[in-house]
Amino acid sequence: MYYNEKIETMDRESLRKLQGERLANIVKHTYENVEFYRKRMDEAGVKPSDIRSIDDISKLPFMQKQDLRDYYPFGTFAAPMKDIVRFHASSGTTGKPIVAGYTQKDLDNWSEGVARCLTAYGATKEDIIQVSYGYGLFTGGLGAHDGATRIGAAVLPTSSGNTSKQIMLMKDLGTTVLCCTPSYALFLAESIENDPETNLKEDIKLRFGVFGAEPWTENMRKELEAKLNIKAYDIYGLTEVSGPGVGGECEYQDGTHLWEDLFYPEIIDPVTLQPVEPGQQGELVFTTLTKEGMPVIRYRTRDLTHLNYEKCRCGRTMVRMGRIMGRSDDMLIIRGVNVFPSQIESVILEIPEFTGQYFVTVDRVNNIDTFQVDVELRPEYYGDDMGRMLRLKDRLVGRLVSVLGIRPEIRIVEPNSITRSQGKAKHVLDKRLLNP
Ligand code: ADP
Ligand code: ZN
Repeated sequence: MYYNEKIETMDRESLRKLQGERLANIVKHTYENVEFYRKRMDEAGVKPSDIRSIDDISKLPFMQKQDLRDYYPFGTFAAPMKDIVRFHASSGTTGKPIVAGYTQKDLDNWSEGVARCLTAYGATKEDIIQVSYGYGLFTGGLGAHDGATRIGAAVLPTSSGNTSKQIMLMKDLGTTVLCCTPSYALFLAESIENDPETNLKEDIKLRFGVFGAEPWTENMRKELEAKLNIKAYDIYGLTEVSGPGVGGECEYQDGTHLWEDLFYPEIIDPVTLQPVEPGQQGELVFTTLTKEGMPVIRYRTRDLTHLNYEKCRCGRTMVRMGRIMGRSDDMLIIRGVNVFPSQIESVILEIPEFTGQYFVTVDRVNNIDTFQVDVELRPEYYGDDMGRMLRLKDRLVGRLVSVLGIRPEIRIVEPNSITRSQGKAKHVLDKRLLNP
């Protein structure tokens, strides 16, 4: 099922033409109205009249998070305040957050993006959609909410947290679709498993989950599908570009379709800033093609992934993005080796005796990096049988060494001692950053 069949299955030649027209418009509009864009284009020696097709995008300069910070809060806005109807902000772990402003048309396009995703997963107006993404400045809650409303489903806006109430409402109302971060879904699954009053098969009516806002792996998908007896679908997005629903998977779960009529994606080599060979991994860059409030042009997301332009079995012609390995700033360099938390997650989930919860601590002691991974065994495997615990630990170390190329110190901690996340999970403490 499609939400907007004409667009989602548009032949690529017409799509490129549409993208070219929209790019020319946005470049002209921002050049004429926003000092930030005018200055940068002048510096790069590009004029709006140079942008005639989508291929001309390579003439334009890139922008980054720091630019949005430097021009905080309104310096990159391209619509007058009278037309702005909503703000959101990304967490911004240090310093000022990134503030995004939306016009009504921006909100309409955003909710259409989410509606396309929900329809691709198979949601209809019959569904009861529980939105357990946080509501507020974070785009997750209201983004999913507006998309679910748009398809006429019944929205249950629980927001994040209060897990026992979430489960009670899920049972009593018969929630069929769950929207939250994959790490919160894992926590919900555990909580349902440990709740003597809830029988997953009998009491929970969930059909599928809409999981995103943080990197997750194929092994996590398998884990969530098995534990919650659902299909688990990816949804991707970021505040700077709009919010969740920049793209989503279809029933084939073979890549995340990006809504290219609204957001033009490129993959570049983060060092040379040149486009990578088709299909190669690199940094994802977006240009918003219709946004009025806060457009971005060649915005470097720092998300690492690859793109596949082959037509999908679902009939959609829109490009498919591979799993996001992480942001370039999530990458840890430990004793000279590059390590992504998502690689660690994937290995831990290969071994069913572990819960999938983990926490990484990196430090530097006597000029040598230390690398510790805390993991939990499921309660039934934790305990007196030291021999078995040691064998499991060895198995995990062996797999991590072969995948990462570096040996972590593994600590098996008590069940339930790693903090569960209700939104985006925090998996890493890099103490080297505290005292560089
Ligand atoms: P913040 O920057 O504060 O985390 P956002 O909510 O805008 O705020 O986060 C967007 C980022 O979340 C993306 O750039 C990406 O790194 C991550 N993300 C969102 N959806 C996914 C997804 N489906 N898979 C992997 N990473 C995701
Ligand atoms: Zn598809």
